[in-house]
Amino acid sequence: MDTRSVKQHYRKHRKAIIVAVSGILYAGGWTLGYVSTVDTASAAILVLAAIVGGYDIAKTAYHEVENRTLGIKTLVTLAAVGAIAIGSYWEAAAVVFLFTLGSYLEGRTMRKTRNALEELLEMTPDTATVRRDGEQRAVPAREVEAGEVVIVKPGEKIPVDGDVVEGESAVNQAPVTGESAPVHKADGDEVYAGTINQEGSLEVETTGSGTDTTLQRIIRRVEAAQEAQSPTESLIDRFAKYYTPGVLALSAGAYAATQNAILSLTLLVIGCPGALVIGPPVSIVSAIGNAARSGVLMKGGEHLEQAGKIDLVAFDKTGTLTKGETTVADVAGFDAEADEVLELAAVAEKKSEHHLGDAILEAAQDRPAAVTDGGTEAVQADTESAPGEARPVPDPESFEVIAGKGVVALYDGREIVVGNRSLLAERDIEVAEEVGDYVREREERGETVVHVVRDGVVVGAVAMCDELREAAPGVVQELQDAGIETVMLTGDNEHTARAVAEEVGIDDYRAELLPEDKQAVIEAFREDGHVVAMVGDGINDAPSLATADVGIAMGAAGTDTAIETADMALMADDLDRIPYAVTLSKATRWNIYENVGLAVLTVTLLLAGVLTSYVTLALGMLVHEASVLAVIGNGMRLLRY
Ligand code: ADP
Ligand code: MG
Repeated sequence: MDTRSVKQHYRKHRKAIIVAVSGILYAGGWTLGYVSTVDTASAAILVLAAIVGGYDIAKTAYHEVENRTLGIKTLVTLAAVGAIAIGSYWEAAAVVFLFTLGSYLEGRTMRKTRNALEELLEMTPDTATVRRDGEQRAVPAREVEAGEVVIVKPGEKIPVDGDVVEGESAVNQAPVTGESAPVHKADGDEVYAGTINQEGSLEVETTGSGTDTTLQRIIRRVEAAQEAQSPTESLIDRFAKYYTPGVLALSAGAYAATQNAILSLTLLVIGCPGALVIGPPVSIVSAIGNAARSGVLMKGGEHLEQAGKIDLVAFDKTGTLTKGETTVADVAGFDAEADEVLELAAVAEKKSEHHLGDAILEAAQDRPAAVTDGGTEAVQADTESAPGEARPVPDPESFEVIAGKGVVALYDGREIVVGNRSLLAERDIEVAEEVGDYVREREERGETVVHVVRDGVVVGAVAMCDELREAAPGVVQELQDAGIETVMLTGDNEHTARAVAEEVGIDDYRAELLPEDKQAVIEAFREDGHVVAMVGDGINDAPSLATADVGIAMGAAGTDTAIETADMALMADDLDRIPYAVTLSKATRWNIYENVGLAVLTVTLLLAGVLTSYVTLALGMLVHEASVLAVIGNGMRLLRY
């Protein structure tokens, strides 16, 4: 080894070396005290042990005093220096050695806890096979740019985020979304860096560079979350500011009253706020790490503690309890052919970005190209028309969205309105009995129906359905079992809402809500004293997510904004994660209480022990360090929750 690598080695293992050297000196000095009659030799070695172990501590203590932020190291330094001053060399060495050993173990386990995600980062491969100038080339993954085509063979990990442009495969997305089952990927599907291509060869057009991936964003966000202080943590920090000077005053007072130096030094040591300060962060860091590995991003300790108090969960209906894959179930023509109704609706919705509009447009484009009228011809055309050829839908001359109600468009000089009852009522459009009956009948099945109006006359209606997520009833049940109220919020009409609510088994529902109404409902729940979580998508439901005590965004892997704005983000569209996230938060809250309780109990018992002279300086330090390791161990249980 050359000097440089020796130095590097020393720097890396400095703490361990200090602990070991001070431990050996301590053991040597102690043994010598027994076997030899020359007390000064033993004393010298013990003092040396205290100096080796205590140098760094004393240096920090000096800074603490300088900045008037008295902390644990000031207490330990004073205790050790005091013990040497009164000739208790063994005690001085013991206190210092136990403290350095304790902090070393503490540092190691804390690093391990924080690095719970490092294994995720290791999932991203170092090299990528890109197609450049018609050739396949292996390049470092971080040099891949957006818009390049990357080839991923079966069994390989995907090096960058992108869209599949060629091939088909099953991809294990667990590292990013926490989903255990592989997800089928084909043309146009999004894939993430760090996920594993299991079956076929894929060609992926990258959407970001090799240094800007969803996985990296997740890890950055988790690290930031782990740094952010929770209310309990900042409370303890504020408390510790007064606590340490308090301990100093207590120790000085005890000396003044009893002239017992050992007693007052022991008070310094047992007064160290170690376990109290370290407990809550370990619980929080562990829980955030665990959640991230299960595909749940928590924004920070504050939100985690808040989530531990949730007693009501509000769900958005569309896209949250349902799959959000709306399809047209039926088209009814009243004053026109069904086909014409669908065509008119599609023109009006062409520029809308609403999921109902998408479903209508898709249904209209999927119609066989040659349909003119009548049934037989349609069947014929169906078999003849080339599959996948979309029938063109003309553009409207003008188009306007009425949020939460529908759309109004101008086509061929005629006004087309597509929307719900309230939009029709607003525009004084009459709804015939026949139409009303049809709409109600479909709605009672849980379908959403929109009216299609041409020049003020209802010409037809389109009924659409959106399947429930399989997990929805189970998730609602699990929350109810945990004593949490569940409510569904929807912009949909009363009939549809009731049908869906019954199917899911949810406690309550609110229908016909405009986006701002959803926000008001959440606000009202909070005013009633509930701690409310709102589950929805991060885009349409952003205002209600922000209003809730805890906003939980679903399917965040695809949308950066959701990761940034929600208090909690589910990487996958996995409703199952909600009971997990809520119970983990509750467990974390308890864990923090346990740790604070344990710390307070230890100090109280030690104090009683000191005052009844059962606890000595060294024993005090030993128990103190044991309590620090105990709260760390307890907090780390959350890593395996
Ligand atoms: P949600 O997200 O719960 O479905 P929205 O506020 O998006 O609620 O929509 C509420 C209702 O408004 C829909 O159920 C539908 O009746 C009507 N609506 C909204 N947008 C459109 C649209 N583009 N076309 C037709 N109807 C619409
Ligand atoms: Mg919605």
